Formats: sequence, C-alpha cells, structure tokens
Amino acid sequence: MSPCELAKRNGAGACGAARAHLYQNVNVIQAEKGIGMTGKKLTCLACGQLNRVPAERLGAAPKCGTCGAALMPGKAIEVDPGILAKAARHDELPLVADFWAPWCGPCKMMAPHFGKAAQALAREARLVKLNTEDHPEAGAAYNIRGIPTMVAFSGGREAKRQSGAMQEAQIVGWIRAR
Ligand code: ZN
Repeated sequence: MSPCELAKRNGAGACGAARAHLYQNVNVIQAEKGIGMTGKKLTCLACGQLNRVPAERLGAAPKCGTCGAALMPGKAIEVDPGILAKAARHDELPLVADFWAPWCGPCKMMAPHFGKAAQALAREARLVKLNTEDHPEAGAAYNIRGIPTMVAFSGGREAKRQSGAMQEAQIVGWIRAR
C-alpha cells in the first residue's frame, strides 16, 4: 500500500507527502472498530513512536502500539532530549518537563513531589524529567539557567516555565493554570 493510500485509509484528508508520511508513522490505538481519528496524539516516552489515543481511552492505561510502554504512566518518566523534542512538538496533551541534575539538592527535594503530581494529573498531562548532567546540550537548547526548572509545552510550543523547587499541590496548580 502506498503512503498515499495509507493516509486515506487512516482518515487523513489531504494526501501530500508530508502528511502521508506523518500518518503512516502513527499507531492508532482503538478500543473497538469504528473509532475514527479523533483521539489525542501522544509520543511514546520509551521508544518515541507517535500514537493516537481516543480521548475516552486516556484513563484506560493505553499502551504504545510499537513497544507496549504505558502512554499515560501516571508517574514522572526520565526521557532523553530526542524524545522530549518529539513529544513537545507533537503531543496533544500538556507535557511538562522537569530539568534537573543529581547534584542539585532542591531538585532532589522536589522529585517526589513531581512524581506525585504526575500521579494526580495522570489523565490530563504527562510529566517527564530530563537529567541536565547527562544531557548538558539539552539544558542549553532549552535555555535552562537554573535548576530545577519546569517547562510546560502545549500545542507544539513552550507555554510557560517556572524555576525553583515546588511542592506537589503547587506543581499541580501551576500545570493546571492557563
Ligand atoms: Zn513505544
């Protein structure tokens, strides 16, 4: 099947090469046959594959169609810069990255709170961690000047950022605030 036919079969309206390329690389997770392409695009935080999850399935422990990893893990997931960049660009649910490092005391204090916030927001947002000691180039790429810094992505771009350690309730409130 050509990419063009595949794109049409998957419900893509247009059949341009770029669009076809995008859609043939999206796993569609369907609860049952007949569900259309109305779900949310989510990047697998383990393998980077784009998945599309029907909104009503977000709370039903959806898994990546390629590697089987949980797409809504309900905990903070350590990611590398490549996965973060892809998820920040394509995800259709809020994505929040905590830039941290093992030598940073406030980062370590905040870590369990960030994890609990991920649990509290399990159906509405995904929280990830990026180790700036392992990936200093990522800290520079995102212009991180101090850690911990949380960066929230929405609609393919940075929506806001916040530096300094926060507790669970503050983190949840900050992520939910528009
Ligand atoms: Zn995967």
